[in-house]
Amino acid sequence: MTELTRRGILANAAALSAIALGPLTVHSAAHAAALPANKQAPGYYRYNIGSFEVTAVTDGVRIWPLDNFVRNAAKDEVIAALSAAYLENDKVALPYTPIVINTGRQLVVVDTGAGPAFYEQTKGGLGQFHTNLVAAGIDRNVVDSVIISHFHLDHINGLLTADNKPAFPNAEIAVPAAEWKFWSDDGNMSRAPAGSPVEFNFKNMRRVFGALGNKVRQYEPNKEVVPGISSVATYGHTPGHTSHLITSGSVNVMVQADVTLLPALFVRNPGWHVFLDMDGPMAEQTRRKTYDMAIAEKLLIQGYHHPFPALAHVEKDGAGYQMVPAMWHPTM
Ligand SMILES: [Zn+2]
Repeated sequence: MTELTRRGILANAAALSAIALGPLTVHSAAHAAALPANKQAPGYYRYNIGSFEVTAVTDGVRIWPLDNFVRNAAKDEVIAALSAAYLENDKVALPYTPIVINTGRQLVVVDTGAGPAFYEQTKGGLGQFHTNLVAAGIDRNVVDSVIISHFHLDHINGLLTADNKPAFPNAEIAVPAAEWKFWSDDGNMSRAPAGSPVEFNFKNMRRVFGALGNKVRQYEPNKEVVPGISSVATYGHTPGHTSHLITSGSVNVMVQADVTLLPALFVRNPGWHVFLDMDGPMAEQTRRKTYDMAIAEKLLIQGYHHPFPALAHVEKDGAGYQMVPAMWHPTM
């Protein structure tokens, strides 16, 4: 049997293309001149949870600098973890995926992406949620409920359009009560360091929810938010950070929001704290509890910052965990 090597393949390919360049193939060579599309296709993907239909809709990817992305790991360790996952290791490329759930009774959105201003700023790299909803055939005007996990901008800024109007004008906006209590407290805001990202979040939250008027309803942890979708307190990333358990038939999916960000870093190393974790130790405890529970109960995980379409099984792996992506289905 011939030994398979890259060098051998390339030598063979060169010999074949030398033959193909002969006079008889002039016609077929002319057909190779199509221009590259140079543009990504809209990103959305559908799957069923029992009788519910879920559409995962990408908001895009944001590039973060490596420095201090992980608060309690050395830069070399972070580079090694990215390399081990075959990722570019000079930056963190972080995906964002809100979802839409059609429960048969209601059309529900969970988190809303970074919003139209980011779309402009990143030349379409992030903030794609609204345009990808159109591509998926989903009309923002007919959404009944928007459930928010926490008040970081990449989850709430898509609540508004580019001209600061409600992007889901006929929807009730459901927010975690603990998150509302923390961020709407002027005393808490006054203690945030001037010019810090945390201070920005206090101001941004007032800007976004101020434009939504009385459409906002607070929900408590561990309660049904809409029929079939329950809140799960997963505090730590922010004071009221909340995940959601979708249940229909015998299938359960944990929509975990930011329990972990990029799996190659934080699922593999649950002890690592992203700089955005407001209470690192609590976020870590939440991470471990959430995944131990998901493993015991065989829950699928839908992760906001996991690789699109961001649906996976979780399993224990050494001192950490790993995600096993759910199978892609060509039909519903
Ligand atoms: Zn996030």
